[in-house]
Amino acid sequence: MYENEIIQIAAKKDPVEVYKGLLELVKKAAEEKGRISGKKKLYYISAEFLIGKLLSNNLINLGLYKTVDSELKKNGLSMAEIEAVENEPSLGNGGLGRLAACFLDSIATLGLPGDGIGLNYHLGLFKQVFENNLQKEVPNPWIDDKSWLRKTDRSYEVRFGNATVKSVMYEIDVTGYNNKTNTLKLFDIDSVDESIVEGESIWFDKNNIKRNLTLFLYPDDSDDQGRMLRIYQQYFMVSNAAQLIIAEAREKGSNLHDLYDYAVIQINDTHPTMVIPELIRLLTNEGIEMDEAIDIVSKMCAYTNHTILAEALEKWPMWYMEKVVPCIMPIIRMLDVKVKERFGNDEKLAIIDKNNNIHMANIDIHYSYSVNGVAALHTDILKNSELKVFADIYPQKFNNKTNGITFRRWLLHCNHELTELLESKIGDGFKKDADELKKLLEFENDKEVLNAIADIKQKHKQIFADYLEKQQGIKIDTNSIFDVQVKRLHEYKRQQMNALYAIYKYMDIKAGNKPKRPLTMIFGAKAAPAYTIAKDIIHLIICLSELINNDPEVSPYLKVVMLENYNVTYAENVIPAADISEQISLASKEASGTSNMKFMLNGAVTLGTEDGANVEIHEFVGDDNIFIFGESSDTVIKHYEKADYSAESIYDADPEIAKLVDFIISKELFKVGNKKSLIRLYMEILTKDWFMTLLDVKSYISEKEKMLEAYEDREAWEKMMLKNIANAGFFSSDRTINQYNEDIWKLTADLSAQ
Ligand SMILES: *Cc1c(COP(=O)(O)O)cnc(C)c1O
Repeated sequence: MYENEIIQIAAKKDPVEVYKGLLELVKKAAEEKGRISGKKKLYYISAEFLIGKLLSNNLINLGLYKTVDSELKKNGLSMAEIEAVENEPSLGNGGLGRLAACFLDSIATLGLPGDGIGLNYHLGLFKQVFENNLQKEVPNPWIDDKSWLRKTDRSYEVRFGNATVKSVMYEIDVTGYNNKTNTLKLFDIDSVDESIVEGESIWFDKNNIKRNLTLFLYPDDSDDQGRMLRIYQQYFMVSNAAQLIIAEAREKGSNLHDLYDYAVIQINDTHPTMVIPELIRLLTNEGIEMDEAIDIVSKMCAYTNHTILAEALEKWPMWYMEKVVPCIMPIIRMLDVKVKERFGNDEKLAIIDKNNNIHMANIDIHYSYSVNGVAALHTDILKNSELKVFADIYPQKFNNKTNGITFRRWLLHCNHELTELLESKIGDGFKKDADELKKLLEFENDKEVLNAIADIKQKHKQIFADYLEKQQGIKIDTNSIFDVQVKRLHEYKRQQMNALYAIYKYMDIKAGNKPKRPLTMIFGAKAAPAYTIAKDIIHLIICLSELINNDPEVSPYLKVVMLENYNVTYAENVIPAADISEQISLASKEASGTSNMKFMLNGAVTLGTEDGANVEIHEFVGDDNIFIFGESSDTVIKHYEKADYSAESIYDADPEIAKLVDFIISKELFKVGNKKSLIRLYMEILTKDWFMTLLDVKSYISEKEKMLEAYEDREAWEKMMLKNIANAGFFSSDRTINQYNEDIWKLTADLSAQ
């Protein structure tokens, strides 16, 4: 298919022209595949869709990749050169947004009718640049004539307290693997004005809604205006969604009393919560009685919880909402009254609390029919502690859906060599049925296969080293062990503990203990612009890299690298190259994690705590193929309950730990760093350490040393790699989506393309 077109496009030779030709070809091929259809449709509403570049993935899904690749080669071009032309859409922040993107891929692949709904942020989250060893945030514009966006003529009015705006809807095709397509629908307004952003910064007039509404994802929320802007964005997203849902259902014959037969809504975290009151409002405007409207909407909505961190559960002061979204406040008040009538004045269950704050998650839990956690441990903690009061009154609503990743992007696209090896050994059934990866276990003693896996890892280490040098001018030793921690920066993820390891190793080498093999510690992380301690941790890591990499005694054995502007493209490059996957969150705090799954699938071995989906990875690979350390989630939860954790007493009692912490304010680091930032971080760890770094740091260091030693038995390590790959099948998002569909959505697959 499309062979002649591909030949002509490749013959253009200029990468930009070739890219544009392929973009148009893919759009046409996707259209010719046709839309997935069905009476009932899923609307996956999410503030973020971290979709990554789309060209290669779409070519794979449409079955065109191999033809394109070979025609490019005939013309002296490489796929990498063409991909470099594409901007990565900046529509997401981290795991939650990447999950939404993996889900869209699997929904289409399984032939389920389901679209994503979000916003078209022109300047994205932000682009991270390093200046004076500090993170600086600059705008990340990504929309140009090479983007996948298609403007539609759908448009709705959205009324705020002080303004009414008219939306425009854009679409991006979501191709299924060997299947038809769904779409990602992104709402925007025409009057958005990028020029109101001040210089190379992320500052702008937060009051000017018509010009700023869709500029940034998660605009700064350190003041009232910023927080209200987030409410403007959320309401704009869900009001458009609600109007679209009603319009599409009507087009298919709904009389609205049966709307739940036409639409199901997955609310991804609390950002889209206002879709509940907004839909109720629209239905009552159509003449449906209030109680029936509530009943209809509650039968349509399902909520995914992504965190147990109290500070991350959104609550908005009522006066913000009165000002920004007065239309839905009467509904929210009534939903609150109904809860109080039924359950009394229990503050934990209230939608509007005593201080007049509105608890978004509580709206979701009372008025959805499903509440799910994202890994087995996470769901247990929700049911048994964080949301216990709700689980007691609504036991039937709670369920677990362990996250997954799409193997099209995280194996077929990012690791062609491994994909080919698997095809040659176990056939290509694993591409549709990930459980077939288990067949690889038959080769666990096959030296040829083990060597091939090791060679592929080595090849990707070289590819990544070249990419890193091109991106940041940093050279790394491909014979060293690649030890990788890449994820958003948060204290609970404990990058600071890994930094303490770097300090330990630096001191150890300085003391004359030369490691058998060099170690390259690779970090990648963006910190939220207003999260001071997170930025201090980034500063510490960059300072350590400057100190260590420039020390001739140490640098032959240890290198520290901080990736600038970690994003999906970086992830696709570094994950296939990793030997060690760092998943070291404080037990109970990481809801699931998904990078842990990507690493496993690409043959990295996990160094982790019993947290999130690490628990399930551990069960699949067994004790011998993972390195686990640290206190259990039960112990950690008890420490919080009793408030008996004291970093200072650990520091006082253990001179080895004190030595590591003290190094943060050493004269060596003061020479390369900012004293204020380093002292602030030192004080934070010493006197607060809310996420208990010092509790686990020693068991972390000793487990990591054990792991580095284990790496030296090459054959045993290669076997571990094989077992991780072979057991990764469960973590395919196809499995996750099948479970969502069977338990929650109950959509009928459109199998007409197969
Ligand atoms: C997978 C992914 C994440 C999520 O990483 P976790 O370690 O699970 O938090 C974040 N950012 C990017 C770019 C990813 O690809």
